Amino acid sequence: MPIQILAPEVASQIAAGEVVERPASVAKELLENALDAQSSQIVIHVEQAGQRLVEISDNGTGITHDELRLAVERHATSKLQKADDLFHIHTLGFRGEALASIGSVSRLTITSRTENDATGAKIRVEGGSNGALEAIGCPVGTVVRVEDLFFNVPARLKFLKKEATERQQIDGLVTRYALAYPQVRFQLFQDERLALQTTGNGNRREALASLYGVETARQMLEVSMDETTMRIHGYSSPVGISRGNRKEITFFINGRWVSDGGLSSALLQAYHTYLMVGRYPLTVLFLEIDPEDVDVNVHPAKAEVRFRHPDQLFSLVQRAVKRALMAYAPAPQVSIPSWRT
Ligand code: ADP
Ligand code: MG
Repeated sequence: MPIQILAPEVASQIAAGEVVERPASVAKELLENALDAQSSQIVIHVEQAGQRLVEISDNGTGITHDELRLAVERHATSKLQKADDLFHIHTLGFRGEALASIGSVSRLTITSRTENDATGAKIRVEGGSNGALEAIGCPVGTVVRVEDLFFNVPARLKFLKKEATERQQIDGLVTRYALAYPQVRFQLFQDERLALQTTGNGNRREALASLYGVETARQMLEVSMDETTMRIHGYSSPVGISRGNRKEITFFINGRWVSDGGLSSALLQAYHTYLMVGRYPLTVLFLEIDPEDVDVNVHPAKAEVRFRHPDQLFSLVQRAVKRALMAYAPAPQVSIPSWRT
């Protein structure tokens, strides 16, 4: 075959593959957008484990009528202007790719209104082709509706897991974000059934209960350590509670859910000698570090990051968790000798 430039819709479907792997990736991108828009309430409706529908409504800043068309273009973002901004980034998004990617592999409808606009606007994108912009009455905020994900890329559909698995992925995702943003009120509906609800009252332990159940949440140890350039806080299980896999180990860096082998190893080292081989803790840790010290632009899905001073960070995780474990560990039993005279 001769070399040729790919047709734009093919190129964008290929690029979308990196951002939108499954329904949970759609939910993640839309949640991040709602959080970046300073929302205090986020409602998520999912049908058929996200294949039929993922809809996220927020009460955030909204998008103006004039900008709505741009929002669904590739590399269109309000969060970054120059490459260097990446190292001062305080938003979860920055690539300007999510909406364009999602629109190229689904039927996407966005309805939005800002505080300063009397009416809202609505746009529909179907498999990458944009419909007309319409004026519409709606409350301040944004509703993003993603229907029939991968309807035009059947090959992708084949890679989706069982509905129950995809549904769990979304439950897990929303619960973790609810935990990371306890001041935001979250509601998640799966096929019209309320699957998760938080009050938004800022109480993390309450949100923790919806993740692990009330009893486990009550027993989780508090981890907290402040150092000049980095801070850690969160929860980790006492030695009596563990799992047979690493799925319940979660790290957030500056409000972003990341997966990082180094952080997990540091955590597991803290549990070394406390847990049997093959057992893993339940952990949710939030790290705050200088945005300059973390590169978030490693992969389009933004879950992988690189640290400028990984050892310092790993050491902090290890020390903080170890301290929590030691503070909890019951004092060794001392047998008091009884003297006979
Ligand atoms: P990014 O988040 O990387 O900027 P997206 O494609 O996810 O890229 O979104 C494009 C732009 O659309 C954002 O920069 C933002 O200005 C706007 N936007 C998307 N979702 C929302 C939302 N829920 N509320 C307000 N603005 C939004
Ligand atoms: Mg985004």
